[in-house]
Amino acid sequence: MRNFAADLHIHSLLSPCAAVEMTPRNIVWHAVAKKLDIIAITDHNACDNVAAALIAAQDAGVVVLPGMEVETREEAHFIVLFDKMRQLKAWEQFVSAKRPPLKNNDEKFGAQFIVDAEDNFISIKEELLLCSLAISAGELSAKVSELEGLLIASHVDRPAYSIISQLGFVPPDVALDAVEVSRRMKPSEAINRSPVIGKFPVVTASDAHTIEDFMSGPVMNFYLEQPTLAEIRQALLGINGRKAVVD
Ligand SMILES: [Zn+2]
Ligand SMILES: [Zn+2]
Repeated sequence: MRNFAADLHIHSLLSPCAAVEMTPRNIVWHAVAKKLDIIAITDHNACDNVAAALIAAQDAGVVVLPGMEVETREEAHFIVLFDKMRQLKAWEQFVSAKRPPLKNNDEKFGAQFIVDAEDNFISIKEELLLCSLAISAGELSAKVSELEGLLIASHVDRPAYSIISQLGFVPPDVALDAVEVSRRMKPSEAINRSPVIGKFPVVTASDAHTIEDFMSGPVMNFYLEQPTLAEIRQALLGINGRKAVVD
């Protein structure tokens, strides 16, 4: 058993709100510099840069968990993580069918870049990504379970775009593995303000949109045998000798 330093919520330049420096290769290099063992690229409602991150990480000693940050009908954000790219591909298919058929406005929201593992430009994603999917949080949860993914409610301490800010509670059909408290607040303070947060395992992450955000962001420590979702799930529950510690 050993410590795996992790940041499970990072945006690449596919997210319209992220800086162009957030290429998969640059994120992996900076993960190495930050001594992170596990990272997840979690772009808004899409995952076109995740495969490049997996390739970029191959010889870097960093595990990339395939993931996405999804917005549900409630305008609540969730981090969805998988062990394998094929699970994320199935997830992407589900999400694509639930996105409204609208185009992104590059000028207003920023461009959505798809690149390869060597920072080469591939294309601009034209579909609107910063939007709610036509699914409820409960429907999202059911699909994540079906695909054996991990579900984390994003930035539950923030005044917008979290399940707590939108509903004030977590519906019983939403099977959260954890809630994420943003870098802006200590978990204890977040729990004080919204006691419901204390009912779930708490994680933190950088939610980085720039390299500076990423490098200065918080780190999670997971004590695991292997860097897999099954082990991370046990760590979040604090069972079988695994544990999750907010840095
Ligand atoms: Zn978010
Ligand atoms: Zn985010």
